[in-house]
Amino acid sequence: MHRECGFGDTEFLMSARTIDLELIRKFNVPGPRYTSYPPATHFTEEVSKDLLLEKIEANNASPDRDLSLYFHLPFCQSLCWFCGCTTVITTEQGKSARYLDSVERELDTMGRYLHPDRKVTQMHLGGGTPTFLLADEIRRLGGMVASRFKLDPDIEASVEIDPRRLTRDKLEALREVGFNRASIGVQDNNPEVQEAVHRIQPLELTAEVVGWIRDTGFQSLNIDLIYGLPHQTVGSFEKTIDEILDLRPDRLAVFSYAHVPWIKPAQKILKDEYLPTPEVKLHLLKLTVEKLTAAGFVDIGMDHFARADDELAVAQREKTLQRNFQGYSTKGGTDIYSFGMSSISQADDIYWQNHKDLPEYYAEVDAGRPPIARGYVLTGEDLVRRQTIMRLMCDRGLDYRSMSEALGLDFEAHFSAELASLDDLEEGGLLARRPGRLEVTELGQLFIRIIAMRFDAYLIAGKEGRYSKAI
Ligand code: SF4
Repeated sequence: MHRECGFGDTEFLMSARTIDLELIRKFNVPGPRYTSYPPATHFTEEVSKDLLLEKIEANNASPDRDLSLYFHLPFCQSLCWFCGCTTVITTEQGKSARYLDSVERELDTMGRYLHPDRKVTQMHLGGGTPTFLLADEIRRLGGMVASRFKLDPDIEASVEIDPRRLTRDKLEALREVGFNRASIGVQDNNPEVQEAVHRIQPLELTAEVVGWIRDTGFQSLNIDLIYGLPHQTVGSFEKTIDEILDLRPDRLAVFSYAHVPWIKPAQKILKDEYLPTPEVKLHLLKLTVEKLTAAGFVDIGMDHFARADDELAVAQREKTLQRNFQGYSTKGGTDIYSFGMSSISQADDIYWQNHKDLPEYYAEVDAGRPPIARGYVLTGEDLVRRQTIMRLMCDRGLDYRSMSEALGLDFEAHFSAELASLDDLEEGGLLARRPGRLEVTELGQLFIRIIAMRFDAYLIAGKEGRYSKAI
């Protein structure tokens, strides 16, 4: 959106240098990341499983809509203390074979509801650590998928990789079964930071794995970094970014560390006195945006950067970008069917999530039941707000006429109270209300979820503490 607002990347840099810290303090309030609307905190066990299954069946009445598959592999050999993922920490390698048995049973159980001719255009293997699987187990998982689904020859198949215990034969196995995009976790190269967060990963190791990823023919490489970790300074993080840019990734995700020790108790180990102050964190963000845009990356939003010719950047320019549980995506019109412990699926007007606890997940699957623990059925109003929030976050603005056409209502009349409530955000320079449209400014891009929250009907005073801060 900032191109259409007339803000090129260079102007963004200039503005970023003059960011007012007071404004940042004012608007840096906790908020959801809106990979779903309503956020997953609204999913409930109260929703009828039969109703969800009926709706899943209806969603599969025809093969017209394409599928996006997600597989959650929860195991990690050690816990990184900043981690916010749903993981099972173990060094027992045998656990992955047992887990795959259950995923296969789940595929068979859910396969009863799925239309066999739906085309799979996207697949993602996430975790935990998907590369906890042995090479032959990766081949087995690939075979399980290939024998049950119609895979598009142009499928985007991505996998999250932890370089620390990777072997080259695992990458070869991933390529054999069709994975073509790799995402590697780095977070920070500084040994002091790595020690503080219990994740030792020398740069030489990361570089070696990047070489393997290229040698084995992956088409795209993403690298994850985190700012806001203990002992990070602007100087040390700049060194990390320089080192990572030397590895020539196609995309970068530079996340703000979400300190939520009330949800993730291991984060209590990360003592406040070693965490960067909010001001330092802001400077880390500013540094990141400046360096990456200067290096030719486009700021996609919500911590994601892509090379200007990357399809994510192209989709954002063409306003076809999508946002879902896997973050930003170019694949619109797909339903997401997810498998494995804790995984979340989305189709039509429903979300559903599998059991988050391994024994419960196993018990349900072994009994031949869909391992659904909770879910959500969107109301008509939820659907309107979901589309509004997703377009806002992908397009960095809202065009009222196209929103009215898409939603079948008078957008300005429907959201008159919400649009009128934006005075403070406009005064703070986060957005501009023009005749017929709302534009998010370059400063507002840093706070896109704060703007989105104004369209969230469920945000009520006192619940904000459940979320991490935007920066
Ligand atoms: S490897 Fe990834 S998922 Fe596992 S504990 Fe570390 S950050 Fe979390």
